[in-house]
Amino acid sequence: MLCVWMVTVGSVKMGLSQAVGGRAGIDYRLMRETILASWRNGRVSVAELCDAQPELRRNAEFCGRSLESPCPVCESDGLVEVTYVFGPRLPGHGRCVTSDKEIARLDARKQELRGYVVEVCTDCGWNHLTRSRSLGGRSALAANDVEGVGG
Ligand SMILES: [Zn+2]
Repeated sequence: MLCVWMVTVGSVKMGLSQAVGGRAGIDYRLMRETILASWRNGRVSVAELCDAQPELRRNAEFCGRSLESPCPVCESDGLVEVTYVFGPRLPGHGRCVTSDKEIARLDARKQELRGYVVEVCTDCGWNHLTRSRSLGGRSALAANDVEGVGG
């Protein structure tokens, strides 16, 4: 699943392998600051920062949640957060989740899922993976009636 995602949203500039494992959410704010600092120092170009692919931009427009803060690159108010969830019975390119309700529903699933939050600017194309966390997997503790899970 992750490989597919890296192709689909391949512009997110860090190894997703770091995000795998552990239930606790992983926060990438430090990396975000580091990459922005590199840009301010002239070591990274705007083109490298603002390379959101068409699909990511579309998802940002249609299922992104507006953020209070302005875009760190172009300072417009087009900054949104897109949440992708991956796992069994979800599309290979991930489900784009728009509401807390939907997150809660996915979190109640028996299967283990993985959620990624990507910050995207709909104006300049700035994009960055900001958080990841695991969802679901509720049956692991509670039930032993999970037999022959297909797919
Ligand atoms: Zn921007």
